[in-house]
Amino acid sequence: MISTTGNAPPPAAPSGPATDLMLTVNEARERILAHFSPLPSEHVPILDALGRVLAEDVIAPNDVPPFDNSAMDGYAVRAADVQAASDDRPVMLAVLGELPAGATTEQPVAANTCYRILTGAPLPPGADSIVPYELTDGVAFGGWHGAAEAATAIVAQRAVRVFKAVKYDDNVRHAGEDQRQGDTILARGTVIRPAEVGVLGSLGRTSVAVVQRPRVAILSTGDEVVEIDRPLAPGLIRNANSYSLAALVRWYGGEPLMLGIAADTVESLRELLWRGQRADMIVTTGGVSMGDYDVVKNILAHDGDVSFWSIDMRPGKPVAFGTLLDVPFIGLPGNPVSTMVGFEILVRPALLTLAGHTRLAKTSIRARAAHRISNRSGRENYMRAIVSRDGDEWVAHLTGEQGSGILTSMHRANGLVVVPRQTTRIEQGESVQVLMLDWPSME
Ligand code: AMP
Ligand code: MG
Repeated sequence: MISTTGNAPPPAAPSGPATDLMLTVNEARERILAHFSPLPSEHVPILDALGRVLAEDVIAPNDVPPFDNSAMDGYAVRAADVQAASDDRPVMLAVLGELPAGATTEQPVAANTCYRILTGAPLPPGADSIVPYELTDGVAFGGWHGAAEAATAIVAQRAVRVFKAVKYDDNVRHAGEDQRQGDTILARGTVIRPAEVGVLGSLGRTSVAVVQRPRVAILSTGDEVVEIDRPLAPGLIRNANSYSLAALVRWYGGEPLMLGIAADTVESLRELLWRGQRADMIVTTGGVSMGDYDVVKNILAHDGDVSFWSIDMRPGKPVAFGTLLDVPFIGLPGNPVSTMVGFEILVRPALLTLAGHTRLAKTSIRARAAHRISNRSGRENYMRAIVSRDGDEWVAHLTGEQGSGILTSMHRANGLVVVPRQTTRIEQGESVQVLMLDWPSME
């Protein structure tokens, strides 16, 4: 069923210097970012910290490794004892016993004695270096086969011949050589990657303070938009945008809050938007262009604060920004590509700021244009492109038809070629800037 209430003309949008202004993309982004700062922190299990921003300095409670240990399978010796060892004149050492990883001993390595030792086992007292077993006549250690046989041989082994000298400290890993007790190992603001999860584990941390995940309320608007599980009827289209937006929110570390689809009436929009109050940001799609049914900006003007609603960019010129019920509000246009590109360029940096990130720019590379590119829009144009490798350079092919309704162009693309507003034509072979859609931020 199609609501007709949206046909009533919405209240006239207020005009004035601040709202009539057509901002550049950078100006718009700066205005938006001025409204955002990092959220408070919460404690989460270390694995759940993946991709999030550390909200505490992590200090080593002990040395890592906690003790001097062997870096090789071999014999723990006193280097001085084997100084003269050679193939012709091996040095014979008495084997005091075996130290697998996890074993310790109090008995010191005295002159001309040694311990058989495995990688990671603590260095026994008195020993100062490790002779790898390859430099001895010692029995090979377990490996894939024969562990039991080797173990029997070890028990039987009373002495070993060493064929080569080692230097003091050879093959010894020192306590604290990775992390020193009391040092700040991970600083607040660090983005947690798999390596940082491992480091936290090595420090015995089970949970850690990270910046909270931003909650982003998502509302689609339009009398013609129906939920994706509803049958289509003439004139209706499926609500793709709530899903692409929610996916982008998740992709960049936020929590989407689906508010549904509002009809093009002030009442319907108001009712659903009110539910966005508990979010850290509200993002809407549709209802911000110049058409008669575009009521989003009017709600913003009457119930909140409008900062601007026009940006010198394509796709996505009509973008409303302001606050509604004190929650920052970004109204993106309804065309599915405009929605996604608008999110990447304007919402993503705000979301990342809330989540505590400081690297906000998308990774950008220089690529060679595979063909001529025209920009008749007179605006900063973000064109969907496929970037691939050609020898030692990147080459950018546009995905074809750049209409802002062609959502599959986003599916085909891995980058957005940025064509500056003054540039009307880029010739084949010229260098272009490309924002990579799915590369992690590097700067
Ligand atoms: P609007 O910005 O409301 O004028 O919408 C521009 C175009 O985007 C129209 O063709 C809408 O039908 C389409 N559109 C609006 N909202 C959505 C949505 N949630 N999912 C898919 N297409 C939409
Ligand atoms: Mg609409």
